[in-house]
Amino acid sequence: MFRKFFGSHLSLKKLRKEVEIINELEPKFEKLSDKEIFEYSRLLKEKILSGISEDSIVKESFALVREAAKRTLHQRHFDVQVLAGLVLYKGAIAEMKTGEGKTLAATLPAYTKSLSGKGVHIVTVNDYLAKRDTVWMGQIFYFLGLSIGCLASNQSFIYDPNFIEEKRREELDKKRDELGNFKVFYPFLRPVSRKEAYQADITYGTNHEFGFDYLRDNLVSNKKDQVQRPPYYAIIDEVDSILIDEARTPLIIAYPDKESSFYYKIFASIVKNLEKEKDYLIDEKRKTVELLDSGIEKVESLLKIDSLFSPEHLSLVHYLQESLIAKDLFLKDRDYLVKNNKVILIDEFTGQLLPDRRYSGGLHQAIEAKEKVPIREENRTIATITLQNYFRMYPKISGMTGTAVSSAEEFDKVYKLEVLEIPTNKPMIRKDLKDLIYKTENGKYRALVKEIIERHKKGQPILIGTSSVEKNEKFSKILRENNIPHQILNAKNNEKEGEIIAQAGRKGAITVATNLAGRGVDIILGGNPPDEKEAEEVKKVGGLHVIGLQRHESRRVDDQLKGRAGRQGDPGSSQFFLSLEDDLLRIFGGDRIKSLMQFFKIPDDMPIESGMVTKVVREAQRKVENMNFDIRYQLLEYDDVLNKQRTHLYKLRQDILEAQDENDFISWLINYFKIEDEQKIKKLKEVSSIEQQELYSQVLRIIDTLWLDHLEKLDALRESISLRAYGQRDPLVEYRYESYGLFKNLLEEFSSLTNLFLDNLLS
Ligand code: ADP
Ligand code: MG
Repeated sequence: MFRKFFGSHLSLKKLRKEVEIINELEPKFEKLSDKEIFEYSRLLKEKILSGISEDSIVKESFALVREAAKRTLHQRHFDVQVLAGLVLYKGAIAEMKTGEGKTLAATLPAYTKSLSGKGVHIVTVNDYLAKRDTVWMGQIFYFLGLSIGCLASNQSFIYDPNFIEEKRREELDKKRDELGNFKVFYPFLRPVSRKEAYQADITYGTNHEFGFDYLRDNLVSNKKDQVQRPPYYAIIDEVDSILIDEARTPLIIAYPDKESSFYYKIFASIVKNLEKEKDYLIDEKRKTVELLDSGIEKVESLLKIDSLFSPEHLSLVHYLQESLIAKDLFLKDRDYLVKNNKVILIDEFTGQLLPDRRYSGGLHQAIEAKEKVPIREENRTIATITLQNYFRMYPKISGMTGTAVSSAEEFDKVYKLEVLEIPTNKPMIRKDLKDLIYKTENGKYRALVKEIIERHKKGQPILIGTSSVEKNEKFSKILRENNIPHQILNAKNNEKEGEIIAQAGRKGAITVATNLAGRGVDIILGGNPPDEKEAEEVKKVGGLHVIGLQRHESRRVDDQLKGRAGRQGDPGSSQFFLSLEDDLLRIFGGDRIKSLMQFFKIPDDMPIESGMVTKVVREAQRKVENMNFDIRYQLLEYDDVLNKQRTHLYKLRQDILEAQDENDFISWLINYFKIEDEQKIKKLKEVSSIEQQELYSQVLRIIDTLWLDHLEKLDALRESISLRAYGQRDPLVEYRYESYGLFKNLLEEFSSLTNLFLDNLLS
């Protein structure tokens, strides 16, 4: 309300006027030669560097990029893409449906903001998309004289069309005609150092790469080893996935600690002796456990200790708790896979494998102990940040996705990001059919098989979305038993994900994919590259049909799945098949429907389809969504405390690095510690360069060690605060208060230790 009256909220109506002006500039740019365009771009950059505002040239710059896209990709930004580009430029979120061309829309603000020379970051959900977009959009930027960097895990590149020799290129062009655009882009990516990739005008990369580089930059001991520049502007693709779904797991850099593996093994066997409901309770919704008296007694007698809750055994409670959670709440093939003797997480939203991620707080070790694979030593955190706080450091961010409006409140509350819904280029004609709900899962599967055979006979391509690898494989087996040919796509074979998804629009194709596998990859009717005749045939039978095997906890994820069909005005349809045995309905309330079905004695494979079902499902989703929002918001409130302290400490650390880099470390010491004793100052200025070097590394070591201990103290503080009863007091307030005290101690200790060291050196 407040913003409506006083604020700077964006209006599509006003932005449309700007689009018109940009359109009016088109004839002027059309007349320019390629060389003149290049020159124009250089002049725009000069203008910006001389201090002219970005706002005053944005219309020209947009028109220029559009012209460059026409000449390089032979694609002209649709007006709605220009509109979205303006939304991104202003630092808001553009909701654009799947297939509407978000990649191309982003080039407009990316180019404009890059003219400042401060570096634009375009954030993607995986390495594949970072590389794809670098090479794809790189053509436009290169044409305009910009450099384009790309960050992938352990590799960095610069887009360079001259990187391959002529002959290879011909070969590859031929291959591209045969295979479509996939995989042929690597030859244009020239490997470079991380720093060089960051020096580029525009850098594509995943959220992990940007975030971890930030953390690593704050662990180095020389300024020249830092790779990032100060953050300036970021465009986040699939922004809901990155800022909401992934934001629940912070980025952590850690190193191993020895003894805990021993305890996880012991507790993995202890929890086998405990019975659910009798010895402990499980809260599936909140993913927590509660020990009952008989459970406590059992553990005490197995461990031969008097009291589990006496202070010296607090760490045992922690092992026990994690082991119970591992036992009951984390299931193999749903939450994780066991592959090559390792426990690998599965992203609950996308079904993708997350080989670099580990559950924190000992849960990962507990699962490893349960699965009897080697236990990686428990890690000591040395640096950590949530994605929320990483992206909040940018003076301006923007984002795009097909599904943002339903999370508008969260974007506003957490990031102060406005969401604007961009209309589609062509009208959307997808038919979303009503949910069908069955009594049992088996009944549902029987009905599905019939439905799939029916549609497959007509040659209609079908995409089946499942919520987990386990469900994915189970359903694939059912299809096999019924001799239904299909492609399967889940975390286990995601290397080929782009190609499989791209072919999911071929005539008669049946693809069984985990929820969001291949997010960001387009399904084109008739395949990729499309066969025109086949595309027509597919359109005649209704286009792509999407089937959801259950409703996801979050409506956004369902919407993403539906969005696979009906892209760019194509025909298409979608439908969800549910059963009362689905997790969502089982846990969050299908009781009303259940009693209804029992009352009317409905057979297993007869669905009910009614407004009431839809309502119950929506209610359940809303419950989970609210709960997850609360969890994330709480995480954030706690993390804010750490964030302020981290910002303070990293600034201090950075000052030290820079002082050393400028060979002025001694002056920094004198300033920071307010040394006034002339004698001491004189002595300090006389220390040899070797001593200076030693002093410098010692100061860094002190600060790093103190910070590391501090991180652990904060963790322990949080855990203990959650166990204590506070009566009327707010645990968050307590946490803030106590952690502030801890941080003050840290700074004091830093002073006293450094001074001790100084005195020692000078005496
Ligand atoms: P999104 O990320 O919104 O799902 P993409 O950026 O992957 O969509 O683009 C989808 C498809 O639309 C791509 O094949 C792209 O080449 C095509 N496309 C996008 N914009 C245009 C345009 N202005 N003209 C022609 N084709 C376009
Ligand atoms: Mg995309």
